[in-house]
Amino acid sequence: MRFSKLRLNGFKSFVDPTDLIIADGLTGVVGPNGCGKSNLLEALRWVMGENRPKAMRGGGMEDVIFAGASTRPARNFAEVSLIIDNSERLAPASFNDSDQLEIVRRITRDAGSAYKVGVKDVRARDVQMLFADASTGAHSPALVRQGQISELINAKPKARRRILEEAAGISGLYQRRHEAELK
Ligand code: ATP
Ligand code: MG
Repeated sequence: MRFSKLRLNGFKSFVDPTDLIIADGLTGVVGPNGCGKSNLLEALRWVMGENRPKAMRGGGMEDVIFAGASTRPARNFAEVSLIIDNSERLAPASFNDSDQLEIVRRITRDAGSAYKVGVKDVRARDVQMLFADASTGAHSPALVRQGQISELINAKPKARRRILEEAAGISGLYQRRHEAELK
């Protein structure tokens, strides 16, 4: 699965619609402190279903919505869309009918988050599963936060095992087993 574009609208400091084109090879993002580099990575994690406000450096999920500045009023919603190159048809069967897959997450004040894959309304879980099965996602070890390496070194074995399972691509299976056991 190759990410080809990330589109932000009203997400954190990205108040105006912004496209980040992810070309083949390595993409570097440079800029002064506070210009929004980490916000970009958070947008990527958020659209893949991140639901822990702390992982988004906020107190509540609505903190990802542009909060206003001296010259701009706050926004009522935030939207991030991730465009994936699906020409190798690696997406789950129910979404696997086109070369390009667009995943959209939108949060509206007081109304929570809504997700779409293409034109279909889906649940957070569907999006999380889509990425878990592709060995990526909001908790993917490929997304490394500042301070995360030392956290990993100091982690208890159980937490470390979860990271290894994510890397091995079996966390989707575990999630399904957990749900089956609850039923
Ligand atoms: P550094 O180089 O210090 O790591 P950075 O480029 O990673 O900086 P970010 O942490 O991505 O910067 O961006 C922080 C900026 O985003 C701050 O200016 C902060 O005010 C702004 N910001 C965060 N959340 C919101 C929000 N909800 N509304 C408006 N601005 C926000
Ligand atoms: Mg940063």
